[in-house]
Amino acid sequence: MKRSIQQLNRTLHKSFLTRPVADAVAIYFHSIERRTWESFRTCIRHWMDLGYRVVDPIEFVEAADGEKRLFVSFDDHYRSWHSALGLLEELSLKATFFVNTLPFRGLAEPETISEYFDRIDHHLERVSLSTGELCEISAAGHTIGCHSHSHFNLQHLAPARLPQEILQSKAQLEDILGQPIAHFPYPFGMRRFFSERLRQYCTSHGFRTVSNAIPGLLYKQQRLDSINRTPWNLGQDLILFGPGIAGFQYSDNETALHRRRGVSGERRDPW
Ligand SMILES: [Zn+2]
Repeated sequence: MKRSIQQLNRTLHKSFLTRPVADAVAIYFHSIERRTWESFRTCIRHWMDLGYRVVDPIEFVEAADGEKRLFVSFDDHYRSWHSALGLLEELSLKATFFVNTLPFRGLAEPETISEYFDRIDHHLERVSLSTGELCEISAAGHTIGCHSHSHFNLQHLAPARLPQEILQSKAQLEDILGQPIAHFPYPFGMRRFFSERLRQYCTSHGFRTVSNAIPGLLYKQQRLDSINRTPWNLGQDLILFGPGIAGFQYSDNETALHRRRGVSGERRDPW
């Protein structure tokens, strides 16, 4: 009995590892410090070599079945994004940056910025963007989306605070950039940090897509208003299981944070 279960496990594992990669691949990152640039180059060139075209959120959800496309996004708020503009240009990569509006350098107090980096568990370069630097990222052709104001767990937030966290944050970015903001990835990314009602709240207030950050949904059917993203860990080398098969790493900073937050506190639906 035990032996047949082991055999079944091996077969399932093998079939997963040898499955062709999905046509629609959405990966996300956080900060991109210089020491990780080479790993980032390797990752992006890997997908490009496999024939994937890098697309924006709209192209990603609207592309025809069978069209190989890669959606690359960055979450939270880091000056390292601005420092990496030359790297993205070198790779001819147009990415999407999902920004929290609370910690702008020059607008937020240093203690507020420090509390923000504590909240997202970021302990490397704890420097935020100026609004001018965000404008330069946008002017370089990248898409800017809203990741909420403060990066709170929206499921635990009183409904009265949602307009400030979501709608005012969207409006602030629109003021800074002078263009509509249409894409929202909810903080912490896992299912338990969001709900269908929150999704409807976002889509009914002008967001075209809502992204999650859940490992392992690469093969799930994409919807027109949502993007299933998988973390990619730049701290480790790219792993290839076989021809054209990429190994994702799930030990990403935010994923670990999800796990820790997930076990503490009782879930409460603000609606
Ligand atoms: Zn985040």
